[in-house]
Amino acid sequence: MTDRVHVHGIGAVRIVYASWVMGFVPKRFVAMTLGRTIHVRGTHLPVWVLRHELAHVRQWERYGKVGFLARYLWQCARYGYANAPLELEAEAAEVRAMDATATLAARTGGTE
Ligand SMILES: [Zn+2]
Repeated sequence: MTDRVHVHGIGAVRIVYASWVMGFVPKRFVAMTLGRTIHVRGTHLPVWVLRHELAHVRQWERYGKVGFLARYLWQCARYGYANAPLELEAEAAEVRAMDATATLAARTGGTE
């Protein structure tokens, strides 16, 4: 099952649900981005995870395949996964998404 979203400044991004790729990734990760494809473990992609992964799509676009992977692996080795600057940048995108969700919930008087 796949989806396709159009991202401003990037173009088409593919989302693959129940992706076999996730079989090679530790269980705590619900999604992973490779280039312009977001691989999802299950069949649901929460909006904050989508925002996180789209930040990684932008990073892939910014640095290229080799440039991104080299930076990412070096940063994880140097700072650890949680403190790698590329991860922190993606987390910042998550927080903005959660703010937007909270604002919408407050406006409509409901939560999702
Ligand atoms: Zn990430």
